[in-house]
Amino acid sequence: MKSTTRVVVIGGGVVGCSVLYHLTKLGWSDVMLLERSELTSGSTWHAAGGFHTLNGDTNMAALQGYTIRLYRELEELTGMSCGLHHVGGITLADNRDRFDMLVAERAKHRYMGLETEIVGPEEIAKLAPIVNLDGIIGALYDPLDGHLDPSGTTHAYARAARMGGAEIHLHTKVLETNARPDGTWDVVTDKGTIHTEHVVNAGGLWAREVGAMAGVYLPLHPMEHQYLVTEETPEIYQRDSEHPHVMDPAGESYLRQEGRGLCIGFYEQPCRPWAVDGTPWDFGHELLPDDFDKIEDSISFAFRRFPVLERAGIKSVIHGPFTFAPDGNPLVGPIPGMRGYWSACGVMAGFSQGGGVGLMLAQWMTHGECERDVSALDVARFGEWISPGYTLPKVIENYQKRFSVSYPNEELPAARPLRTSPMYDIFDGMGAVWGAQYGLEVANYFAEGDEPRYETPSFRRSNAWEATAREVRAVRQACGINEVHNFGKYRVTGPNARAWLDHVMAGRIPKPGRLSLTPMLSHAGRIIGDFTVACLSETEFRLTASYGAQAYHMRWFLQHQQDGATIENISDSSTGFQLAGPKARDILQACTRTDLSDMRFLDVRRMTVGMTDCLVQRVSYTGDLGFEIYCDPMNQRQLWQTLWTAGQPHGLKPFGMRAMMSLRLDRFFGSWGREYGPDYTAAETGLDRFIRWDKDFIGKAAAEAERASPPDRQLVVFEVDAADADVTAYEPVWIDGAVRGFCTSGGYSHWLEKSIAYALIPRSDLRDDLVAEIEILGRRCTARLQSAPLFDVEGTRLRG
Ligand SMILES: Cc1cc2nc3c(=O)[nH]c(=O)nc-3n(C[C@H](O)[C@H](O)[C@H](O)COP(=O)(O)OP(=O)(O)OC[C@H]3O[C@@H](n4cnc5c(N)ncnc54)[C@H](O)[C@@H]3O)c2cc1C
Repeated sequence: MKSTTRVVVIGGGVVGCSVLYHLTKLGWSDVMLLERSELTSGSTWHAAGGFHTLNGDTNMAALQGYTIRLYRELEELTGMSCGLHHVGGITLADNRDRFDMLVAERAKHRYMGLETEIVGPEEIAKLAPIVNLDGIIGALYDPLDGHLDPSGTTHAYARAARMGGAEIHLHTKVLETNARPDGTWDVVTDKGTIHTEHVVNAGGLWAREVGAMAGVYLPLHPMEHQYLVTEETPEIYQRDSEHPHVMDPAGESYLRQEGRGLCIGFYEQPCRPWAVDGTPWDFGHELLPDDFDKIEDSISFAFRRFPVLERAGIKSVIHGPFTFAPDGNPLVGPIPGMRGYWSACGVMAGFSQGGGVGLMLAQWMTHGECERDVSALDVARFGEWISPGYTLPKVIENYQKRFSVSYPNEELPAARPLRTSPMYDIFDGMGAVWGAQYGLEVANYFAEGDEPRYETPSFRRSNAWEATAREVRAVRQACGINEVHNFGKYRVTGPNARAWLDHVMAGRIPKPGRLSLTPMLSHAGRIIGDFTVACLSETEFRLTASYGAQAYHMRWFLQHQQDGATIENISDSSTGFQLAGPKARDILQACTRTDLSDMRFLDVRRMTVGMTDCLVQRVSYTGDLGFEIYCDPMNQRQLWQTLWTAGQPHGLKPFGMRAMMSLRLDRFFGSWGREYGPDYTAAETGLDRFIRWDKDFIGKAAAEAERASPPDRQLVVFEVDAADADVTAYEPVWIDGAVRGFCTSGGYSHWLEKSIAYALIPRSDLRDDLVAEIEILGRRCTARLQSAPLFDVEGTRLRG
């Protein structure tokens, strides 16, 4: 074993082997994998080997598609068999919501190039004759679904990696990972120490323990999981072709053919976490004892759905653990605040996702960024607030909801409230209906009178409709107040603060007393942030951006840190309120002796509001006259009393995130994670209007190339003839009878009383009178292109 290498991958499960292979594929051959036992000695060996593309997150679905298509390539490259069975699969729907979800997924697949299909009961009976169709409305058929041999596939990855120059050392246990002062690592094993630039934690069931060796907490937890293999079944072995997979979400089961019998696994409600206090090092190639009690109800349900099972004897039971992150997606990428330490953990569907995870991580390591938006699997989507006490109930919730319908407006209840602002009890007393963002409780809207304190999860317009409309009217007609606790906030200080900001931000950095809006670009010119920059002095700046992107942004800032500029994340030590609406200035003026009459749009000033020293920015995401008023959290309740009391004669009302997201539609404001994110560029989304071309900044070369040769697609806004459901994201846009684009987000503008959609479509399709169709829940709705905002066209409210 050599003592120096560029990368050490810890763990020879399917994920570690995929990472190793992809590193060699992208040109890094001086790479090594260490496995404490044989390959596949964690979850991998006992997996059922099923794979499928269906995933609520579009980028995850695309990575799953990549993984599945990779297997043939691996077989050709290595000459080894992955034991592929491309039998196709159906996901059943037995109620309207589940069917809506499948229809919406099918619609997304259209522009992703996935050939899925919605099928009715008759077609299901032909495809999967062992299904009892009682109560079944329809299903989604995916020809790519299938299963493989977990061990053969892992060994194929390993051989492909070796062919690319990688070394694999079995029976080599990593004992310590120690960072050197220069950012490189000593990986201490029971066979000696290896000095390396990069460590990849692909420790699977032991990822927590491996992470702890470097002082890293990875939010994942193993869960027990069980599947059964039946004896030979005539209804199966007498068929001419292999039976397709059947996912039955109502029964929380997946079923497929195994040899001449069947294999069925369950995501049972009485599920059990495994190894809560740590995975034993002596666990490996053993299984957990059978536990039929846990799956008794699931089995009874399965007998009704697949009557053939009742006659089939059980040949074997596989009961083993595998890991989940709190939201069920993998934990991939560089650990924020560390150099050269990478996560490839929490992969709960290694055979659907392992290839995509390996490719993304390898791109990140070798090129510095991924070709697509990986925020759904980025390890930085959880902040420093994450703890084992939070992870465990969230993982249990995720396991139990594995096959549940997931709604765009759904707020999951486990492990909440976790983090609250000083306003929590006051807003709660005012009827707040809460959502959670990055662990923080955020008021979605305020229920009044007999209105329920719970928003019904739905693909259609929910019961928050009236309350949201009421709050929107309050803002537009008088004034609304909400918290700014859920903005990401940063303080940049020092003699080089401006120079550093000019380097990392593509836009103009403002003069003292002013604000500017700017995109932040990656080296490849992708959007990695949309910031408001406030200049307080030449040596002190404030930045605001998305609250949920804090760890992501801080990781980037620290990676690009320069002498003379200090960056602090003050998201939770700076809070306050936003006042928005025509009466906002009058209310704020009643609370401060500072004269606001000459405070222009995009001004920033320090002032005392009531008894509290605040930083006030004249800007509002509602598109209306507005002020963001920042203060110390210790003063927030006092500030509230001041503003609320002063606001009463003016009709001040609280408003929540639902109203805010409706209000932004009136002025066509985009949003982080929807219109703005690493899948898109500044030129595609119109953010290039904020770029300052006469300075150097990260991503300039790529942005300039786009300027010279404009991108093929463009972000546009449509007014949609929607019925009872609005655009949420990724609905296809039909132009002249073909799918030409997709929606980034949308919703209902309660002020304009119009359904609005934001979409990326080809530039070649752009024309002023364009009438397209947007497919919402299977219905193609007429959509008319809008060229100018529909509210405050002259900007007199916003700027006046
Ligand atoms: C019953 C069951 C059925 C499943 N069915 C499916 C399915 O149908 N489809 C699907 O996609 N997924 C399925 N899964 C999930 C799948 O098994 C996992 O997603 C996948 O195996 C995760 O692989 P991994 O490489 O991340 O982790 P693991 O397989 O756990 O591999 C981690 C490896 O790291 C090694 N290691 C750990 N610590 C060290 C150290 N200090 N030094 C050296 N080596 C170390 C371990 O020995 C191990 O080999 C199933 C899981 C279970 C339990």
